[in-house]
Amino acid sequence: MERKQKAVFPTPYKEREESECLWFRYIYCQCYELKLPDGTTIVTDPFISGAVDDFTVDELTGADYIILNHTHFDHDMDVRRIWDCFHGRVICQKEVAMEVARFFDIPYSSIYAVGEECTYYLPEFTLQTFHGLHDNRKAREGTDKRPSQQDDITLRRFQIEGHHLLDQMGAVFMMNWVMTTRQNFKIAFNAGQDFEEHARHLDLVKPNIMIRHRIRSYSPQEYADQCERTGVQYILPWHHSNALVTGEDLNEYMEQVNQILEERHSPARAFNPEPYRWYKLYLGIE
Ligand SMILES: [Zn+2]
Repeated sequence: MERKQKAVFPTPYKEREESECLWFRYIYCQCYELKLPDGTTIVTDPFISGAVDDFTVDELTGADYIILNHTHFDHDMDVRRIWDCFHGRVICQKEVAMEVARFFDIPYSSIYAVGEECTYYLPEFTLQTFHGLHDNRKAREGTDKRPSQQDDITLRRFQIEGHHLLDQMGAVFMMNWVMTTRQNFKIAFNAGQDFEEHARHLDLVKPNIMIRHRIRSYSPQEYADQCERTGVQYILPWHHSNALVTGEDLNEYMEQVNQILEERHSPARAFNPEPYRWYKLYLGIE
């Protein structure tokens, strides 16, 4: 009989190892601060100063990029404040780019204008952009206003002048996107109503995690369905701050989503991040 080779090295083996994918923290509404393994920092839809009083723009650690989903005030209010601190690039749709530069008084060359269904090979990550569709709940409920009936909501609520055009365009132009890190970790960001349309794009992209608008009418079942539909390992909410106003408990909600996933024998999970707290996503071996 042939002599077998030994399989075991005599030196100590490691018990566990981990490879960093992403650091992230949730701030408010659709604002997340993301940190890639190389330190590149991305801030999404910055709305902080007009929203919370226990966290400030000064506490952000960086903003090499600010990425806008759309230009309603609850998605872009702190663009200028953040840009003034870090002088990064503001990634937004071509249609709103000039007005973003003008209103926030940011040098035109710091605006990174993007189209829909395009791929951008930035030095630190790849960005794929997709069509988005703003939620039209008010129209369905018959309370939406015609352009001729609209007042300047940012002026009325925050006494900030000149944001009216961005508010108007915010309902028309919306961008979903997927970021792929240099380690091939893919994060999908999507908001609004066009979930099935976006999911069909994601069939090809195959993201690892999805930061998904928790539309207030979604049952835990629907949120679990969207998680499973895209095959992501984690679904995280954004624009869920309204749950606090209505007294809904998002922690309980996510438990229900996870129960449904478990019953379906899916290893995917929903996760409700505690605001302002950093989390690490990694691939581990143990
Ligand atoms: Zn909006």
